Amino acid sequence: MDRRNFSRKMLMAGLVMPAVNMNPALIPGNAEYFEEDVKKFPSREFDVVVAGGGTAGVVAATAAARNGAKTALIEGKGYVGGTVVEGGTALHSYFNLWTAFPGVEKRQVVKGIAQEIIDRLLKTGGTTGHGIVTGKIDYDSVCTAIDTELYKLAALEMLAEAGVNVFTNTLVAGAERKGTSITGVITQSRMGRELFKAKCFVDSTAYGDLSAYAGAEFKELNDHPVCNSMGLGNVNIEKLYTYLVKNNALGDLAYGLRDGKEGQIIRMGSESGYTIRGKLPDEFVDGVVKLGSGLITTTVHDNYLMFIKVNYKMPVSPTNRDEVAKAELIIRQNQYKTLELFRKYLPGCENAFIARTSPSLNIRRGRTITCDYDISLADVIEARHFDDDIMVYGFHDSAPRYQIKNGGTYGLPYKALRVKGIDNLLAAGMLITTDFQAHMSTRNTVCCMGQGQAAGTAAALCSAKRIGTRELKYADLRSALEEGNVYFEN
Ligand SMILES: Cc1cc2nc3c(=O)[nH]c(=O)nc-3n(C[C@H](O)[C@H](O)[C@H](O)COP(=O)(O)OP(=O)(O)OC[C@H]3O[C@@H](n4cnc5c(N)ncnc54)[C@H](O)[C@@H]3O)c2cc1C
Repeated sequence: MDRRNFSRKMLMAGLVMPAVNMNPALIPGNAEYFEEDVKKFPSREFDVVVAGGGTAGVVAATAAARNGAKTALIEGKGYVGGTVVEGGTALHSYFNLWTAFPGVEKRQVVKGIAQEIIDRLLKTGGTTGHGIVTGKIDYDSVCTAIDTELYKLAALEMLAEAGVNVFTNTLVAGAERKGTSITGVITQSRMGRELFKAKCFVDSTAYGDLSAYAGAEFKELNDHPVCNSMGLGNVNIEKLYTYLVKNNALGDLAYGLRDGKEGQIIRMGSESGYTIRGKLPDEFVDGVVKLGSGLITTTVHDNYLMFIKVNYKMPVSPTNRDEVAKAELIIRQNQYKTLELFRKYLPGCENAFIARTSPSLNIRRGRTITCDYDISLADVIEARHFDDDIMVYGFHDSAPRYQIKNGGTYGLPYKALRVKGIDNLLAAGMLITTDFQAHMSTRNTVCCMGQGQAAGTAAALCSAKRIGTRELKYADLRSALEEGNVYFEN
């Protein structure tokens, strides 16, 4: 069957699949199509379906349920949390960037559910709290590090308390669309295929899987390396710190709660191997540069470096399963080589071992979904606000090169979450914002969480009112977000 007939047959069956996955040339070995009989799926009905239970999705589903929606959260892995528990170094950032601006004070500018997660983790020893980063970097930041395992537990408990129906180990595998609306999400699990119907949907899959299946416009920019961060156990952190200081190689540094004790090192390192050339042995520097390994880390526990990044630039977008399979092997080989370099050259790491890795590589970009508005770098650094702000944010990953004007905040508008051309689909997380440097702000964990709270809240309101996402009155959304303790500047 040719591709056009295949597509027509899928559409007649009510299924929409992204064209990118249907190109036989991308499938090695057998470039034939297999025609599956259209089956009857068991179908469930919800008010809101959130696809992807990661950084943004956990918050979106919690917010939707708290706002009265019968909510389903569909997550491919056996736990929730996504990249925040697998890749990132610290949660950036609940605060503005203030020190470059005389007279400007440190302010917490993201609250709501994002802060609630930290409050929960403080009770179980699962976070360092908000520690100020000092050291040799020339901008300030706040480092909020987490225990990845306790985060998974806290997030699952929070979802259960909110009454979210959580479907882990369940993959979003397609979408059913009628006209400009999605009617259901097709899933695949060990229980077979199912259809999850809803009035409103949130795509927080990072890859933009639901949007792509539903036929939304997207770009695949492939402008970042992928990564698998590993945790190293059996490390003497103070010995490593002393060595880096002695060699003038210490980058940023933060103190906070570690294993219940205040005032401990919770973040240290030197982000890029190049900055330590001439300070640490050449063989070590050349090795980590070649392997794409980062020396910056956070920890919540003694004797543990929680995230050592091992980056790899893929030749194509990480939506390509077969290239990802090759990358998974290369990165794991590079993790082991990185471990060997650490053991050989870094005092304190002589007996280190790989204590955790991410189950699959992490992305910084998958598909970027076209929404009604695309946040620009000027919006971010000029500290622009909109008449439909759903949160404010004050951090940029490329500081000090890019900072928010006057150490303030910019607003993320509701229109930046509305997926173009679809009446009942919102996007939240790393999958919005095309511009590389604007994305270097909006993709950060705490910003993704804030977007999640807005998307989940808006989806619940749209579902209750039986309206499309573009018909929702901003005043209604704003008051529900304020009720949810979201911080606004005015
Ligand atoms: C190596 C690395 C380091 C980083 N460092 C930092 C840092 O120091 N500070 C910071 O603030 N940010 C950092 N970031 C950025 C930040 O972690 C991410 O941008 C953010 O966590 C993305 O959140 P998200 O909700 O968009 O996606 P994710 O948290 O990845 O969530 C997506 C979820 O969707 C699920 N999913 C995907 N497809 C499907 C499907 N088809 N069906 C079902 N489920 C699906 C996934 O399993 C996952 O749980 C880093 C990112 C990386 C990769």
